[in-house]
Amino acid sequence: MGLITYPPNKHETDSKSIFFIGSADETCRINDQRVDLADNGNFAYVVSLKLGNNQFRIDIDGESQEYTIVGVKPDEPHPIAYGRIYDSFPAKQPSKKNILRSILVSENQIEIPLNRAPMCNLERLGKYKYFLDLPDTDMDLDWVHYQTQSGSIIIGEVIRSKIPIIFKKPVASINEKWENNSLVLEIEYYQQDFAVCIDPGHGGEQMGSRSPKGIWEKELNLSFAQLLKEELINLNVSTIMTRDEDEFVSLDERVNYAEEEDSLLFLSIHHNALPDARDPNLERGASCHYFHEQSKPFANYLLNKVVEHTELSYSGLFRQNLHVLRENPDRISVLLELGYLIHPLESELISSADFQAKTARIVAKAIKNFFLQD
Ligand SMILES: [Zn+2]
Repeated sequence: MGLITYPPNKHETDSKSIFFIGSADETCRINDQRVDLADNGNFAYVVSLKLGNNQFRIDIDGESQEYTIVGVKPDEPHPIAYGRIYDSFPAKQPSKKNILRSILVSENQIEIPLNRAPMCNLERLGKYKYFLDLPDTDMDLDWVHYQTQSGSIIIGEVIRSKIPIIFKKPVASINEKWENNSLVLEIEYYQQDFAVCIDPGHGGEQMGSRSPKGIWEKELNLSFAQLLKEELINLNVSTIMTRDEDEFVSLDERVNYAEEEDSLLFLSIHHNALPDARDPNLERGASCHYFHEQSKPFANYLLNKVVEHTELSYSGLFRQNLHVLRENPDRISVLLELGYLIHPLESELISSADFQAKTARIVAKAIKNFFLQD
C-alpha cells in the first residue's frame, strides 16, 4: 500500500520548490507525470511552486488523492539553508539583520552568503592565519561546507564577529569581493620553493640531556640532523641547518635564520629527558610538539610515521609553548623528540648508528610525502 510521507497536505512553505517523499507498490503519478520508483518502491519527487495554492493530484497504485501546497512570502529574506542559497519567494520586507549561516570553503576560495554586503575587516596574523571580522553581521553559523577532500583551509571557532581562518599552505594575498549575494575571499598561495630548516637542539655549552653511558643530547641531535640533511638532499629537498657543528646558537638566532632563509618547514631535533620528580623507567617513545595550528597536521603525520616505522612507541602529540615554535609563526614549526635519552634501554636504541640512519630516512620521506607530493 503506497503513501506520501512528506509534505503534509496544506503544507505552507516560502520555498519555490518542494519534494514529495513516499512509496508505491506499482506506480505513482503526480499531476500525470510518472514518478521514478526505486527498486524498493520509494521515491522523492521535486515540483516547483507558485505563490498561493498549488494543486496536485497524486495517483499511487491506482488510488487518487488531492494535495494542496501553499506558497507564502517569508517575513524576511532567507540568507541560507544547507550551504546553498535558499530559493524562496520574495520577502514581505527586507531583512534588518545580516545573518551568517554558512561558509563554503574550497581550495582557493571562501564564500560567505549574506543578505547584503557586510562591513569587513581581514586581519593578517601571518602567512598561515587570518581573522575575518564582520562586525555588523549576526553569527549563527550552522555549516562550514568543505568542497575539497584535502582542504588547505580550516575555519576555526567563531569568536563574536571574528572568524579565524587557518591555512595549511602559506598565503601570499587574499582578495575580497561581493558577488552573487556572497562575500568571496580569493586566496593566492605563495609559490616559493620548499626548503627545510633543520634545527639540531642545544650545542656548545648547552649540552641537553645525557644518556646513562654519557652521550650528550647535543651530539646526538647534530649527528641525526646531518643524516637527515643527507637524506633530504638525496630526495632533492632544499635544506638549511641552524648549526652544523658543536656551537652555541640562541633560540632567537635559530628562529631568525629560518625567517631570513624563508624556509617553509622548521624542524627541531631533540632527544628527551624528564624533570626530577618522574621515573625514567616509565616513560619512553617519540613525541612531536607544535604551537601554531597550521603545524599540527604535519606534527601528527610525522609522529605517526616515526612510530609506524621504528621501534619507538607513541609518547604523544603536544601543543607546547616553546620559543622556537611560538616565535616561528610564518612556517610549519615542529619539534621532534626521538625517544628518551635517559631511559635505560631506549638510550641504547636511539644512540645506535643503525637507528639514526633508518630514522633519518623515515623522517626525510615523511617530509617529502607531506609537502611535495600532490
Ligand atoms: Zn633537547
